[in-house]
Amino acid sequence: MITCANPKAQYLSYEEEINAAINSVLNGSSYILGDQVSLLEKKFSDFIGTNFSVGVANGTDAIEIALRALDIGVGDQVITVSHSAVATIAGIEACGASPVIVDLEEDFYTMDPNLLKAALNPKVKAIIVVHIYGQSSSMNQIVDFCNENNLYLIEDCAQAHGAYYEDKRLGSIGDIACFSCYPTKNLGAIGDGGLITTNSHELASKSRKIREYGWVNRVSEIKGRNSRLDEIQAAILNVKLKYLDSDNYKRNQIAKVYDHLSCENFQVPKRRQNADHVFHLYVCRTPYRDDLIQYLQDFDVFPGIHYPLPIHLHPAYKGKVDLGSKTSITESIAKEIISLPMYPELKISEAQMIVELVKSFNEKYA
Ligand SMILES: *Cc1c(COP(=O)(O)O)cnc(C)c1O
Repeated sequence: MITCANPKAQYLSYEEEINAAINSVLNGSSYILGDQVSLLEKKFSDFIGTNFSVGVANGTDAIEIALRALDIGVGDQVITVSHSAVATIAGIEACGASPVIVDLEEDFYTMDPNLLKAALNPKVKAIIVVHIYGQSSSMNQIVDFCNENNLYLIEDCAQAHGAYYEDKRLGSIGDIACFSCYPTKNLGAIGDGGLITTNSHELASKSRKIREYGWVNRVSEIKGRNSRLDEIQAAILNVKLKYLDSDNYKRNQIAKVYDHLSCENFQVPKRRQNADHVFHLYVCRTPYRDDLIQYLQDFDVFPGIHYPLPIHLHPAYKGKVDLGSKTSITESIAKEIISLPMYPELKISEAQMIVELVKSFNEKYA
Protein backbone atom coordinates (compact mmCIF):
# COMPACT_ATOMS: atom_id res chain seq x y z
CA MET A 1 0.00 0.00 0.00
CA ILE A 2 1.32 3.46 -0.90
CA THR A 3 -0.18 6.41 0.93
CA CYS A 4 0.02 10.13 0.21
CA ALA A 5 2.42 10.76 3.11
CA ASN A 6 4.32 8.36 5.35
CA PRO A 7 5.76 9.81 8.58
CA LYS A 8 6.46 6.31 9.92
CA ALA A 9 8.88 5.68 7.05
CA GLN A 10 10.67 8.89 8.01
CA TYR A 11 10.99 7.73 11.61
CA LEU A 12 12.49 4.44 10.42
CA SER A 13 15.05 6.34 8.29
CA TYR A 14 16.45 8.08 11.35
CA GLU A 15 15.31 5.58 13.98
CA GLU A 16 18.54 5.22 15.95
CA GLU A 17 19.24 8.93 16.13
CA ILE A 18 15.65 9.74 17.03
CA ASN A 19 15.54 7.10 19.77
CA ALA A 20 18.81 8.43 21.18
CA ALA A 21 17.46 12.00 21.10
CA ILE A 22 14.28 11.00 22.93
CA ASN A 23 16.34 9.09 25.50
CA SER A 24 18.55 12.08 26.13
CA VAL A 25 15.45 14.10 27.06
CA LEU A 26 14.12 11.29 29.28
CA ASN A 27 17.41 11.19 31.12
CA GLY A 28 17.96 14.94 31.13
CA SER A 29 16.98 17.42 33.76
CA SER A 30 14.35 19.58 32.10
CA TYR A 31 11.25 18.36 30.32
CA ILE A 32 9.84 21.79 29.43
CA LEU A 33 11.62 24.53 27.42
CA GLY A 34 15.02 22.94 27.98
CA ASP A 35 18.22 22.65 25.95
CA GLN A 36 16.55 20.94 22.99
CA VAL A 37 14.05 23.74 22.41
CA SER A 38 16.81 26.38 22.71
CA LEU A 39 19.07 24.45 20.35
CA LEU A 40 16.28 24.04 17.80
CA GLU A 41 15.41 27.73 17.96
CA LYS A 42 19.04 28.63 17.29
CA LYS A 43 19.48 26.10 14.49
CA PHE A 44 16.16 26.82 12.82
CA SER A 45 16.71 30.57 12.69
CA ASP A 46 20.20 29.94 11.24
CA PHE A 47 18.65 27.59 8.69
CA ILE A 48 15.90 30.01 7.61
CA GLY A 49 18.17 33.03 7.77
CA THR A 50 16.39 35.07 10.44
CA ASN A 51 17.65 36.54 13.67
CA PHE A 52 15.16 34.65 15.82
CA SER A 53 12.93 31.64 16.01
CA VAL A 54 10.46 30.65 18.73
CA GLY A 55 9.14 27.13 19.31
CA VAL A 56 5.40 26.80 19.90
CA ALA A 57 2.91 23.96 20.27
CA ASN A 58 1.65 23.76 16.66
CA GLY A 59 1.25 25.70 13.42
CA THR A 60 -2.19 27.10 14.22
CA ASP A 61 -0.84 28.57 17.47
CA ALA A 62 2.13 29.96 15.56
CA ILE A 63 -0.31 31.97 13.41
CA GLU A 64 -2.37 33.13 16.38
CA ILE A 65 0.71 34.12 18.40
CA ALA A 66 2.36 35.90 15.46
CA LEU A 67 -0.81 37.98 15.01
CA ARG A 68 -1.02 38.74 18.74
CA ALA A 69 2.63 39.77 18.75
CA LEU A 70 1.71 42.27 16.01
CA ASP A 71 -1.16 43.55 18.22
CA ILE A 72 -3.75 42.31 15.77
CA GLY A 73 -7.04 41.29 17.40
CA VAL A 74 -10.73 42.09 17.75
CA GLY A 75 -11.98 44.47 15.06
CA ASP A 76 -9.00 43.88 12.78
CA GLN A 77 -9.03 42.07 9.46
CA VAL A 78 -6.40 39.95 7.76
CA ILE A 79 -6.37 39.25 4.03
CA THR A 80 -5.61 35.65 3.13
CA VAL A 81 -6.66 32.76 0.88
CA SER A 82 -9.25 30.06 1.30
CA HIS A 83 -7.23 27.38 -0.49
CA SER A 84 -5.28 26.27 2.57
CA ALA A 85 -5.50 24.18 5.70
CA VAL A 86 -8.37 25.36 7.90
CA ALA A 87 -5.62 26.25 10.38
CA THR A 88 -4.82 29.46 8.49
CA ILE A 89 -8.31 30.87 9.12
CA ALA A 90 -8.59 29.24 12.57
CA GLY A 91 -5.35 31.00 13.59
CA ILE A 92 -6.72 34.38 12.48
CA GLU A 93 -9.99 33.89 14.35
CA ALA A 94 -8.18 32.63 17.46
CA CYS A 95 -6.60 36.06 17.97
CA GLY A 96 -10.01 37.72 17.62
CA ALA A 97 -9.46 39.11 14.11
CA SER A 98 -11.39 38.07 11.00
CA PRO A 99 -10.23 36.93 7.57
CA VAL A 100 -10.88 38.52 4.18
CA ILE A 101 -10.52 35.99 1.38
CA VAL A 102 -8.99 36.67 -2.02
CA ASP A 103 -8.65 34.34 -5.01
CA LEU A 104 -5.58 32.58 -6.40
CA GLU A 105 -3.15 32.78 -9.28
CA GLU A 106 -4.32 29.88 -11.43
CA ASP A 107 -0.80 28.74 -12.31
CA PHE A 108 0.53 28.39 -8.78
CA TYR A 109 -2.55 28.18 -6.49
CA THR A 110 -1.11 31.02 -4.38
CA MET A 111 -2.61 34.44 -3.52
CA ASP A 112 -3.28 36.63 -6.57
CA PRO A 113 -1.53 39.93 -5.77
CA ASN A 114 -3.63 41.77 -8.34
CA LEU A 115 -6.74 41.31 -6.20
CA LEU A 116 -5.32 42.90 -3.05
CA LYS A 117 -6.10 46.51 -3.85
CA ALA A 118 -9.84 45.93 -4.21
CA ALA A 119 -9.91 43.83 -1.03
CA LEU A 120 -8.33 46.54 1.09
CA ASN A 121 -10.33 48.48 3.70
CA PRO A 122 -9.32 50.44 6.82
CA LYS A 123 -9.79 47.41 9.10
CA VAL A 124 -7.19 45.36 7.25
CA LYS A 125 -3.95 45.27 9.25
CA ALA A 126 -2.06 42.37 7.70
CA ILE A 127 -1.77 39.83 4.92
CA ILE A 128 -1.10 36.14 5.45
CA VAL A 129 0.38 34.49 2.38
CA VAL A 130 0.26 30.70 2.21
CA HIS A 131 3.18 29.09 0.38
CA ILE A 132 0.97 26.21 -0.61
CA TYR A 133 2.40 22.77 -1.43
CA GLY A 134 5.96 24.00 -0.83
CA GLN A 135 6.15 26.79 -3.41
CA SER A 136 6.50 30.51 -2.80
CA SER A 137 3.71 33.02 -3.25
CA SER A 138 4.32 35.99 -5.56
CA MET A 139 6.45 37.74 -2.96
CA ASN A 140 7.85 40.80 -4.75
CA GLN A 141 4.40 42.13 -5.58
CA ILE A 142 2.94 41.28 -2.18
CA VAL A 143 5.87 42.77 -0.24
CA ASP A 144 5.51 45.99 -2.27
CA PHE A 145 1.77 46.09 -1.63
CA CYS A 146 2.28 45.69 2.10
CA ASN A 147 4.93 48.42 2.18
CA GLU A 148 2.78 50.83 0.16
CA ASN A 149 -0.24 50.26 2.39
CA ASN A 150 1.42 49.93 5.77
CA LEU A 151 0.34 46.33 6.30
CA TYR A 152 2.17 43.59 8.14
CA LEU A 153 3.15 40.55 6.11
CA ILE A 154 2.91 37.11 7.69
CA GLU A 155 4.15 34.02 5.89
CA ASP A 156 2.31 30.73 6.47
CA CYS A 157 5.25 28.39 5.81
CA ALA A 158 3.58 25.26 7.17
CA GLN A 159 4.17 23.51 3.83
CA ALA A 160 7.38 25.21 2.79
CA HIS A 161 10.23 24.44 5.21
CA GLY A 162 13.46 25.04 3.34
CA ALA A 163 11.97 26.51 0.14
CA TYR A 164 13.51 29.59 -1.46
CA TYR A 165 12.19 32.71 -3.14
CA GLU A 166 15.06 34.23 -5.11
CA ASP A 167 18.00 33.96 -2.68
CA LYS A 168 15.95 33.91 0.51
CA ARG A 169 14.39 31.04 2.38
CA LEU A 170 10.65 31.38 2.82
CA GLY A 171 10.02 32.52 6.37
CA SER A 172 12.66 35.25 6.16
CA ILE A 173 10.80 37.65 3.85
CA GLY A 174 7.73 38.88 5.75
CA ASP A 175 7.60 40.54 9.18
CA ILE A 176 7.04 37.18 10.82
CA ALA A 177 6.48 33.61 9.65
CA CYS A 178 4.70 30.53 10.96
CA PHE A 179 5.72 26.90 10.56
CA SER A 180 3.89 23.71 11.50
CA CYS A 181 5.80 20.56 12.43
CA TYR A 182 2.79 18.26 12.13
CA PRO A 183 4.21 14.78 11.37
CA THR A 184 3.63 14.84 7.61
CA LYS A 185 5.18 18.29 7.05
CA ASN A 186 8.63 18.61 5.43
CA LEU A 187 10.05 19.13 8.92
CA GLY A 188 7.73 16.95 10.96
CA ALA A 189 7.70 15.98 14.63
CA ILE A 190 6.28 12.73 16.00
CA GLY A 191 3.37 14.64 17.43
CA ASP A 192 2.55 18.33 17.27
CA GLY A 193 4.98 21.21 17.03
CA GLY A 194 5.37 24.66 15.50
CA LEU A 195 7.90 27.45 15.00
CA ILE A 196 7.80 31.19 14.46
CA THR A 197 10.62 33.04 12.66
CA THR A 198 11.31 36.77 12.53
CA ASN A 199 14.13 39.28 12.29
CA SER A 200 12.47 41.51 14.86
CA HIS A 201 13.76 41.27 18.42
CA GLU A 202 10.51 42.78 19.66
CA LEU A 203 8.25 40.32 17.84
CA ALA A 204 10.38 37.35 18.92
CA SER A 205 10.41 38.35 22.56
CA LYS A 206 6.68 39.06 22.52
CA SER A 207 5.98 35.68 20.92
CA ARG A 208 8.17 34.04 23.57
CA LYS A 209 6.13 35.72 26.29
CA ILE A 210 2.76 34.86 24.74
CA ARG A 211 3.63 31.17 24.45
CA GLU A 212 4.00 30.98 28.23
CA TYR A 213 1.33 33.06 30.00
CA GLY A 214 2.99 36.35 29.07
CA TRP A 215 5.74 35.59 31.56
CA VAL A 216 9.06 37.19 32.17
CA ASN A 217 10.61 35.53 35.21
CA ARG A 218 7.21 34.12 36.17
CA VAL A 219 5.47 37.48 36.07
CA SER A 220 2.92 38.04 33.30
CA GLU A 221 3.89 41.27 31.58
CA ILE A 222 1.28 40.76 28.89
CA LYS A 223 -1.62 38.34 28.47
CA GLY A 224 -0.46 35.00 27.14
CA ARG A 225 -1.35 31.35 27.07
CA ASN A 226 0.34 27.97 27.06
CA SER A 227 1.71 27.04 23.67
CA ARG A 228 5.14 25.66 24.51
CA LEU A 229 6.99 23.41 22.07
CA ASP A 230 7.46 20.04 23.75
CA GLU A 231 11.07 19.21 24.64
CA ILE A 232 10.87 15.65 23.21
CA GLN A 233 9.45 16.97 19.93
CA ALA A 234 12.25 19.56 19.79
CA ALA A 235 14.82 16.76 20.23
CA ILE A 236 13.27 14.87 17.31
CA LEU A 237 13.18 18.02 15.18
CA ASN A 238 16.87 18.67 15.93
CA VAL A 239 17.65 15.30 14.34
CA LYS A 240 15.39 15.85 11.34
CA LEU A 241 16.49 19.43 10.65
CA LYS A 242 19.97 18.12 9.72
CA TYR A 243 18.38 16.14 6.88
CA LEU A 244 15.79 18.67 5.74
CA ASP A 245 17.67 19.91 2.64
CA SER A 246 18.52 16.37 1.54
CA ASP A 247 14.94 15.22 2.17
CA ASN A 248 13.65 18.15 0.11
CA TYR A 249 16.08 17.14 -2.64
CA LYS A 250 14.59 13.63 -2.60
CA ARG A 251 11.10 15.12 -2.92
CA ASN A 252 12.32 17.04 -5.99
CA GLN A 253 13.73 13.85 -7.54
CA ILE A 254 10.32 12.18 -7.13
CA ALA A 255 8.65 15.27 -8.63
CA LYS A 256 10.84 14.92 -11.73
CA VAL A 257 9.54 11.39 -12.23
CA TYR A 258 5.93 12.55 -11.84
CA ASP A 259 6.52 15.40 -14.32
CA HIS A 260 6.39 12.78 -17.10
CA LEU A 261 2.62 12.69 -16.57
CA SER A 262 2.13 16.10 -18.13
CA CYS A 263 -0.46 15.97 -20.93
CA GLU A 264 -3.53 17.82 -22.17
CA ASN A 265 -5.98 16.54 -19.57
CA PHE A 266 -3.46 16.19 -16.80
CA GLN A 267 -1.73 19.27 -15.49
CA VAL A 268 1.41 18.78 -13.40
CA PRO A 269 2.65 21.52 -11.02
CA LYS A 270 4.10 24.65 -12.63
CA ARG A 271 7.28 25.98 -11.05
CA ARG A 272 7.85 29.63 -10.36
CA GLN A 273 10.90 30.89 -12.27
CA ASN A 274 12.56 32.62 -9.36
CA ALA A 275 11.76 30.10 -6.62
CA ASP A 276 12.72 26.67 -5.34
CA HIS A 277 9.85 24.26 -4.72
CA VAL A 278 10.11 21.80 -1.80
CA PHE A 279 7.14 19.63 -2.84
CA HIS A 280 5.40 19.19 0.45
CA LEU A 281 2.73 17.93 -1.94
CA TYR A 282 2.79 17.11 -5.64
CA VAL A 283 -0.60 18.32 -6.78
CA CYS A 284 -1.94 17.69 -10.27
CA ARG A 285 -5.13 18.86 -11.87
CA THR A 286 -7.50 16.72 -13.92
CA PRO A 287 -11.23 16.82 -14.62
CA TYR A 288 -11.25 13.03 -14.07
CA ARG A 289 -9.94 13.33 -10.52
CA ASP A 290 -12.54 11.24 -8.67
CA ASP A 291 -12.40 8.35 -11.15
CA LEU A 292 -8.60 8.41 -11.05
CA ILE A 293 -8.59 8.11 -7.26
CA GLN A 294 -10.89 5.10 -7.47
CA TYR A 295 -8.67 3.56 -10.13
CA LEU A 296 -5.47 4.02 -8.14
CA GLN A 297 -7.04 2.65 -4.97
CA ASP A 298 -7.68 -0.63 -6.76
CA PHE A 299 -3.89 -0.86 -7.15
CA ASP A 300 -3.35 -0.01 -3.47
CA VAL A 301 -2.19 3.54 -4.18
CA PHE A 302 -3.93 6.15 -2.02
CA PRO A 303 -3.57 9.74 -3.24
CA GLY A 304 -4.97 12.67 -1.29
CA ILE A 305 -6.94 15.85 -1.98
CA HIS A 306 -5.56 19.10 -0.59
CA TYR A 307 -8.11 20.50 -0.21
CA PRO A 308 -11.51 19.10 -1.18
CA LEU A 309 -13.39 22.23 -0.07
CA PRO A 310 -12.31 25.90 0.15
CA ILE A 311 -12.41 26.99 3.80
CA HIS A 312 -15.12 29.60 3.20
CA LEU A 313 -17.46 26.81 2.06
CA HIS A 314 -17.04 24.58 5.13
CA PRO A 315 -20.22 24.49 7.24
CA ALA A 316 -18.41 26.25 10.10
CA TYR A 317 -17.48 29.24 7.91
CA LYS A 318 -20.05 29.38 5.11
CA GLY A 319 -21.64 32.81 4.92
CA LYS A 320 -19.58 33.97 7.91
CA VAL A 321 -16.35 34.92 6.15
CA ASP A 322 -15.77 38.12 4.17
CA LEU A 323 -14.83 37.68 0.54
CA GLY A 324 -12.54 40.40 -0.79
CA SER A 325 -12.69 39.20 -4.38
CA LYS A 326 -14.18 36.58 -6.63
CA THR A 327 -13.30 33.05 -5.52
CA SER A 328 -13.91 31.22 -8.80
CA ILE A 329 -10.40 29.76 -9.15
CA THR A 330 -10.32 28.63 -5.52
CA GLU A 331 -13.68 26.92 -6.00
CA SER A 332 -13.02 25.30 -9.36
CA ILE A 333 -9.62 23.78 -8.56
CA ALA A 334 -11.00 22.08 -5.43
CA LYS A 335 -12.93 19.71 -7.70
CA GLU A 336 -9.95 18.79 -9.87
CA ILE A 337 -6.84 18.55 -7.71
CA ILE A 338 -5.14 15.33 -6.67
CA SER A 339 -2.07 14.92 -4.46
CA LEU A 340 0.13 12.04 -5.60
CA PRO A 341 2.10 10.14 -2.92
CA MET A 342 5.06 12.32 -1.89
CA TYR A 343 7.54 11.74 0.90
CA PRO A 344 11.34 11.45 0.89
CA GLU A 345 11.32 7.70 1.50
CA LEU A 346 9.08 6.98 -1.51
CA LYS A 347 11.23 4.93 -3.89
CA ILE A 348 11.87 6.19 -7.41
CA SER A 349 10.65 2.79 -8.65
CA GLU A 350 7.39 3.31 -6.75
CA ALA A 351 6.98 6.77 -8.30
CA GLN A 352 7.61 5.21 -11.73
CA MET A 353 4.98 2.56 -11.03
CA ILE A 354 2.49 5.31 -10.09
CA VAL A 355 3.34 7.16 -13.32
CA GLU A 356 2.55 4.01 -15.32
CA LEU A 357 -0.76 3.56 -13.49
CA VAL A 358 -1.85 7.15 -14.06
CA LYS A 359 -0.78 6.96 -17.70
CA SER A 360 -2.81 3.79 -18.22
CA PHE A 361 -5.82 5.50 -16.61
CA ASN A 362 -5.39 8.58 -18.80
CA GLU A 363 -5.14 6.44 -21.95
CA LYS A 364 -8.31 4.53 -21.11
CA TYR A 365 -10.51 7.26 -19.67
CA ALA A 366 -9.16 10.77 -20.00
C1 LIG B 1 -0.49 22.21 8.57
C2 LIG B 1 -0.82 23.61 8.26
C3 LIG B 1 -1.08 24.58 9.25
C4 LIG B 1 -1.24 24.32 10.71
O1 LIG B 1 -0.66 23.40 11.32
P1 LIG B 1 -1.00 22.63 12.68
O2 LIG B 1 0.37 22.34 13.17
O3 LIG B 1 -1.76 21.42 12.28
O4 LIG B 1 -1.76 23.53 13.57
C5 LIG B 1 -1.28 25.89 8.85
N1 LIG B 1 -1.24 26.25 7.57
C6 LIG B 1 -1.03 25.36 6.58
C7 LIG B 1 -0.97 25.84 5.17
C8 LIG B 1 -0.82 24.01 6.88
O5 LIG B 1 -0.61 23.13 5.89
